Formats: sequence, C-alpha cells, structure tokens
Amino acid sequence: TLFGLAGRTALVTGASSGIGRHMAKTLAQAGATVIAAARRADKLQTLVDEIKASGAQAYAVSLDVTNAESVKICFDQIEALGRVADIIVSNAGTTVAKPALDQTEQDWDEVIDTNLKGCWMVDTEAARRLVKHKKKGSIINISSILGERVAGAVVAYATSKAGVIQFTKALALEFARYGIRVNAILPGYVVTDLNSDFLASEAGKKLEARVPFRRFCQMEDLDGPLLLLASDAGQAMTGTTLPVDWGHL
Ligand code: NDP
Repeated sequence: TLFGLAGRTALVTGASSGIGRHMAKTLAQAGATVIAAARRADKLQTLVDEIKASGAQAYAVSLDVTNAESVKICFDQIEALGRVADIIVSNAGTTVAKPALDQTEQDWDEVIDTNLKGCWMVDTEAARRLVKHKKKGSIINISSILGERVAGAVVAYATSKAGVIQFTKALALEFARYGIRVNAILPGYVVTDLNSDFLASEAGKKLEARVPFRRFCQMEDLDGPLLLLASDAGQAMTGTTLPVDWGHL
C-alpha cells in the first residue's frame, strides 16, 4: 500500500519518551520493524513490549547520540540482528530554557551536541551502513519551528534546530547519489507528558492564542507527515523541511 512500511526497519532515536515514543508506535503500526534507541533502557523495554503486544516487531538498543562509540555500537547491534535501518528518525533532543546571559558553556554544549552533532553522527553512520549493504533509505530529522521562528530563552536550542534544517538540505544533496532521501519535520509546540502542564498554564494559553489555528499539535498530528516521508508515498521528496504546526507562530 502507498504509505505502508512492510519489510522496512525503522530506527527511532529518543524513543524512550514523548514524540519519539509515539513515532516508534506509528511506524510499527504501518508495518516497520522498529529499533527503539535512547539512554533509558527500562523505558525502551516497556515500549518494545507494547509494540510486540500489538503484533508488530521491535527491539530496544542503548544509544547516547553525543557519543561516537555508542552510535557505532548501536548500528553494529542492528546488523547483529540481521537488519539494516532503512528508515532513520533522528529525534533525540534536549533543551535548556534560560535567558542567553544565564546559559553556561555546558548548557550550550549539551544542546548543540545532542540536537545537532547527534543528528550528524546518527545520520552519517546510518548512511555508511546503507551504502555498505547497497540499500536505499529515508532519513527524517526532527527539527522544530523554533529553527525558523524564534522565542525567548532558547538561544542554543533555536540555533541547533536551525542547524538541523540546513544540515538536512546539505545532506540530501550529497546522499541522492546513494538513493538516500533526507528530510526534516519542524513541529510546532506538541503536547507531551513533559510540557502539558506548561502548555495548559496562563503562559501556555497566550502562546496558543498566537497560533493561527489557535491550537497546539497533538502527537498524532505528526503521523501523516512522518509516514509520507518514511514511505514510498514520498519517494520524490528530499531536502524538504516541513513545518507541522497549525500555522506559523
Ligand atoms: P522528550 O524529552 O520527551 O524526549 C527526548 C528524547 O530524546 C528522550 O527519549 C531522550 O531519551 C532522548 N535523548 C535525549 N538526549 C539523548 C542522548 N544524548 N542520546 C540519546 N537519546 C537522547 O522530548 P520531546 O518528545 O518533546 O522531543 C523530541 C524531539 O522533538 C526533540 O528533538 C525536540 O527538540 C523536538 N521537538 C519537540 C517539540 C515539542 O513541543 N515537544 C516541538 C518541536 C520539536 P533518554 O533520556 O532515555 O536518552
């Protein structure tokens, strides 16, 4: 079927919570075997059990995207399972919400290393394995609308996400020769366990009033764009950076 993923192997980084966890389930439901990767092994195992209970295939693999050795070991483990990840969702991310003058060098490094360098390490290692096994693939980077539009107290985060946008375009150009597509999704504010209290607060309500459709995204709103980019339905799409945000903030 047009949006189906039967026979595909999807690596999702940052699958232990929030958007990554949800996307892992969506990809499994569409027929992909899911490799759920992050640092918290217990949370990954719970997700894998849930996916298996639904009748799909999934594996948990430990991964710290800021550590080159860990990235390599993650892909070695996928190969040891007899698989090659041909859908890669680079979703692992973090943020430090502080005014620019309060952000420390450590804050800056943590955000840039996770969101931008982590994306680079995962995407390039994924491509190396695809080329080695002569397979085509689809890489989907999770940037943010804050990579285009700016809010307060997110200087490192916004910079990292803007970097992911240009990185996606540059990589797409180079990887076309290998049959590897590279696209990005730029979510607006997405309601997750971590931010639901804030988004429901007075400050959150003010933000919501600035969204043209006057609403935040639910994780399900990302399902269609994700499956479009992951599946053959989006086979002619590469280097695109898709906002999914109910209208620009
Ligand atoms: P969460 O904090 O719920 O999830 C972040 C995930 O990233 C966790 O699974 C965490 O797992 C993982 N992670 C963090 N650091 C690392 C690391 N060094 N190595 C491997 N995994 C790591 O956040 P969200 O689900 O909200 O965010 C997911 C992505 O979506 C991020 O890139 C975020 O920037 C982006 N986004 C989110 C929006 C929102 O409104 N929620 C809006 C726009 C973009 P663990 O700690 O187990 O390693």
